[in-house]
Amino acid sequence: MSVDDNTPVLRGCIKLPLPEDELLEVTAKAKDYAIMHGAAMRSKTNFSPDSLNFAPFVLVPSSFPRKEFEKAIALQPIINRLMHNVAHDEEFITTTLAETIKVDEFTANLFNIYRKALAHGFTQAYSVGLLRSDYLAHVYEGCAIKQVEINTIASSFGGIATHLVPMQKFVLQELGHSDKLQHMPKNEALSGLCDGMVKAWDIYAKPQSVILFIIEDVSYNICDQRFHEFYIRETYPHIKVLRRTLTDVHREGKLGQHKELLLCVSLSLSLSLSLSLLTASLSLSLSHFFCSNNTEVAVIYFRAGYEPGHYPSQGEWDARYLMETSLAIKCPSIHYHLAGTKKVQQALAQPAVLERFINDPEEIKAVGKIFTGLYSLDDNEAGNANYEMALQTPQNFVLKPQREGGGNNVYGLDIPDALKRMSRVERSAWILMDLIHPPLSQGYMVRPGGKMPPEIVDMVSELGIFGVVIGDADHIVHNYQAGHMLRTKLSTANEGGVAAGLGALDSPYLIDSDDEDGYF
Ligand code: ADP
Ligand code: MG
Repeated sequence: MSVDDNTPVLRGCIKLPLPEDELLEVTAKAKDYAIMHGAAMRSKTNFSPDSLNFAPFVLVPSSFPRKEFEKAIALQPIINRLMHNVAHDEEFITTTLAETIKVDEFTANLFNIYRKALAHGFTQAYSVGLLRSDYLAHVYEGCAIKQVEINTIASSFGGIATHLVPMQKFVLQELGHSDKLQHMPKNEALSGLCDGMVKAWDIYAKPQSVILFIIEDVSYNICDQRFHEFYIRETYPHIKVLRRTLTDVHREGKLGQHKELLLCVSLSLSLSLSLSLLTASLSLSLSHFFCSNNTEVAVIYFRAGYEPGHYPSQGEWDARYLMETSLAIKCPSIHYHLAGTKKVQQALAQPAVLERFINDPEEIKAVGKIFTGLYSLDDNEAGNANYEMALQTPQNFVLKPQREGGGNNVYGLDIPDALKRMSRVERSAWILMDLIHPPLSQGYMVRPGGKMPPEIVDMVSELGIFGVVIGDADHIVHNYQAGHMLRTKLSTANEGGVAAGLGALDSPYLIDSDDEDGYF
């Protein structure tokens, strides 16, 4: 896709290939290290709640330009503030999404919750943003980073990424390269993100209240989520963590006198055990009727709710609305969720729009530089011109809908057919983006059930920087950068979903540009 025969290869961390016997031994060790330290996932093909596979990983850390890494880290608090300001700009969110919600039912449903919450006034003024800004280095601009997207909901892999650094350090040490460890930046994503939730819990200021994780029916990325839960429980034992699906919240949740989110915890559990023969609707009404043990929720951390499949019925939408109108501090609140849509990202990249949200001209310049071309496909003059441009030179673009979680985009030469199948109005649910051309790196990608020993493959890495921002419409009370993650995919793949099978977890090995060959 975005790489061709001429794409340069970044200087590697160590010389490859490794001798086969050494490679076999260290790979076997690394797999066990990964499982034993929780760099692991549930198997999708052979699911069992009782077992784990190691998460796909890259054996030796992949190179990433140091200057660009440091730039991304330094920019994060600015991006946090930008997203916080965008989320609180009702007019901007409303006008930006106006065309999209006419045709995109999912975004329209989210927007509807936003609209209703706005109409009643937000019960909780504070939001927590646990963000992840994703970047690819762009070879045509000296490997300068370009933002792929910004995630405002379920920004994942902070937990596993934190544990991957020691794993790759262990591998380098085993291979006799202890001298290289100094070029692997420390990563405190897990504590950074969890401390953000705890700061929100402190703002809520009720000692008995809990942090609620909203989860999918089946969590394949269980270790990442459990790392968050266990870190909170171990570091702050007085704060309880609950895990519930949207469906559970629909069944167990209600608002208290002051709009507190109350979950009927112990009773509904015992009910579901003792009344397992009764129908769901009966147990629902009984749990509401009998519930004597309500648990108050201080903070809601959404690890689900970002795709249509998470809302199989109106009940899940009702649960989302119930939570939104509650006093609990949401991570993200609905306006933060909407601020993370691709459509908003595209609108932000228009000339002069950043000035609306950032005061400092230097900061505007710095943020502007990480944007690549983003184009509207709305049914108007500009949108129709962009449509024509995509038909003429599709190889330069990615077409993206308002979805998260990977596997939804259309690339290059597939774009014209996809666009021609849409009506003019349907196009406004999509945006067009310049294809970023990342440099290659070479290494061993190790996957459960994969070939042993692994082969050297051409790969591309995407850097994610985590950020935490907490505040209300007028004030930001916490704003910091919170670690990073690196996801590496085969260069032949358009996307690198780790669970989907083409991506692998990785961490950056920082390299400096030398005068002659740059990073290559
Ligand atoms: P999602 O919300 O599904 O994660 P993304 O915008 O992150 O959507 O796109 C998914 C993947 O597609 C990215 O991780 C990246 O590998 C690839 N991708 C997205 N945008 C671009 C782009 N402009 N140039 C090159 N690759 C891209
Ligand atoms: Mg993404």
